[in-house]
Amino acid sequence: MLNFNNTEKAFAYKSNEQLKKARFLFGLMQYNGLVKLGTKLTPIALKMRLPIKGLIRKTLFEQFVGGQSLEESSAVINMLNNQHVDVILDYGVEGGEYDDPKYDHALKEFIKVIRFASTKKNAPFISVKLTGLGSTSLLEKLNLNSYDKFEFVSEHRMNQKIQSLNNAELNSWESLIKRTEKICQTADEVGVGIMIDAEETWIQDPIDYIALMMSKKFNKHKSVVYNTIQFYRHDRIEFMHASHQESLDHSYTFAVKIVRGAYMEKERDRAEKLGYLSPIHINKQRVDEDYNHAIKFILDQPNASLIVASHNEDSTYLAVERSKQSDLSNNKAELHFSQLYGMSDHLTFNLADSGLKVSKYLPFGPIEEVVPYLMRRAQENSSVAGQTNRELSLIKEECKRRGI
Ligand SMILES: Cc1cc2nc3c(=O)[nH]c(=O)nc-3n(C[C@H](O)[C@H](O)[C@H](O)COP(=O)(O)OP(=O)(O)OC[C@H]3O[C@@H](n4cnc5c(N)ncnc54)[C@H](O)[C@@H]3O)c2cc1C
Repeated sequence: MLNFNNTEKAFAYKSNEQLKKARFLFGLMQYNGLVKLGTKLTPIALKMRLPIKGLIRKTLFEQFVGGQSLEESSAVINMLNNQHVDVILDYGVEGGEYDDPKYDHALKEFIKVIRFASTKKNAPFISVKLTGLGSTSLLEKLNLNSYDKFEFVSEHRMNQKIQSLNNAELNSWESLIKRTEKICQTADEVGVGIMIDAEETWIQDPIDYIALMMSKKFNKHKSVVYNTIQFYRHDRIEFMHASHQESLDHSYTFAVKIVRGAYMEKERDRAEKLGYLSPIHINKQRVDEDYNHAIKFILDQPNASLIVASHNEDSTYLAVERSKQSDLSNNKAELHFSQLYGMSDHLTFNLADSGLKVSKYLPFGPIEEVVPYLMRRAQENSSVAGQTNRELSLIKEECKRRGI
């Protein structure tokens, strides 16, 4: 019987010391002012080479990151395997304006991660941010920017955009596609799945376009490429239906990871500043409705693979229940759950205990490179509407149960 309140199962993998440390850390993150100050000062302190790496490593890094390298992450990967939990390996390169050698280097790293994943029993996926493989300003130039009226990233529409590029930009675009293709090809060969992360709306159209192009090429017989859909956007139900139709028209598996979305404040601020309609829903309830509608729709599709990437208990329960119903009707999409490493253990380990497919999204990399990711986790866990209260109360409950 699935019970997300079972803290004994949720934290079985943590020693008393580790649990006390988590209690301390999530307790600190309740202080909004402290988190705001910390997220401002940490990158500056690192730039000034102040000796804070040890402190970061012993706190946020240990809680949310697998290790500084793939090899170092093996201990966490193996521990999760013992608990029947998979991992989605995340080589943490983040967007920025780089040059071709840097993007080619990232490509090599991704190939290494894919090969490494294929040697592990519990690493069926890796995640990829396309802004780590090609120029963000180029993606921005190719965006359709249809904020008040939904427009699908059709070949015809994207070709119009591509024609506006100069020769150098066209070369960069083709290189980005080649790099992504190489990643998907390697993943296909060794049996690993690729999740293409969703990013900001002003660069998302070309990302969707590439994700669909790769899905069409590699998902003919199995799910290799997963696009990500962010349901905090008010146009994503239409996008989901159009993408699904595309998969039917071209006979490939509809493989998607669904999220609510990570850049809400940034999106709203930009829309206000530049004076266009915010792409984000007006309230959380609408987001939840769309997210849950997507779960129901996708689970009813026979040729689909769904990853419910969420820490929301209601959506997780809904997916479990709905999937049981689809089981009966024989019309069943493949279903997988995922949470971030260091968060919502009560979902992950209780889902795994019930025999469901579940993974932890596991970033790894040198401390200075994963700092932006760590700062996002600290902010997310400090917001009033965020997870911290729930997270902290479960940790405290388990401490009490253990008498520590
Ligand atoms: C495995 C995994 C992969 C992920 N990959 C991506 C990715 O590729 N791209 C990406 O953007 N994010 C990604 N995320 C992050 C994800 O978007 C956030 O974890 C998520 O937003 C938190 O939502 P939740 O479903 O866990 O639950 P909840 O805690 O129920 O929802 C919180 C979310 O709801 C939305 N929200 C909150 N308040 C409002 C409001 N007033 N109005 C409108 N919306 C509101 C925001 O999106 C907020 O983050 C990923 C998360 C996981 C676990």
